Amino acid sequence: MRSSEIIPGVYRLTGGGTNLYVIAEQELTLIDTGLPGSYTGIMNFVRSIGRSVDDISSIIITHNHIDHIGAVQDLRRFTDMTVFIHKAGLAKYDADPSYPEGLRRLLRIPFLHRVRKHFVLEPGDVDVQLEGGEVLKPLGGLRVVPTPGHTPGSVCLYAAERGLLFVGDALQRRRRKLRLPAKMVSTDMQESVASVKKIAELDIKIICFGHGRPLFEDAHGRLVTLIEHSGD
Ligand SMILES: [Zn+2]
Repeated sequence: MRSSEIIPGVYRLTGGGTNLYVIAEQELTLIDTGLPGSYTGIMNFVRSIGRSVDDISSIIITHNHIDHIGAVQDLRRFTDMTVFIHKAGLAKYDADPSYPEGLRRLLRIPFLHRVRKHFVLEPGDVDVQLEGGEVLKPLGGLRVVPTPGHTPGSVCLYAAERGLLFVGDALQRRRRKLRLPAKMVSTDMQESVASVKKIAELDIKIICFGHGRPLFEDAHGRLVTLIEHSGD
């Protein structure tokens, strides 16, 4: 996994085209966990900054998709950590509200159903079901902002003191352009636009994505442009 430091103590780790973030304070917090199989890469990084798995106290999941939850079960096997996710992304059995209907149907095929546990977290896999509006401990206060659209339970995490916003897949940056999430893997594009409008009201200096490099310049202006063109 490749790593880079975004601001002191906040790192982006990238593997298989997917980002996760490590906030290194007295305790370590992960935002997302990458694809299945990311455990070794995460642990190599944690050791490279002189820390251990026991230092990871929380995992905050931006949304219940395979490329963001991949290492949750592996990490939990080794130490006690609190896993947070928004409640709207969870369902028992095979409702899978986080995937559009086409993908949901695929997961019901018996062969794929057996690997379903890699695709979604179920209520029993998490410790805290978020409602939205909570302010979590990291970065002097990390606010949970519900931003449904890509999935019903998508959240952004906003560190007001640093002007830092973790968006998961509520937004994406492709070919240098800020874009709405990909329609094929999203559940409600209209909701997604409403969520971007909500984000645009925040005072943001840096946007950190689930995929692609962070945006350091003119975050607000770019959001406004995206909203203006969202009806195109
Ligand atoms: Zn996603």
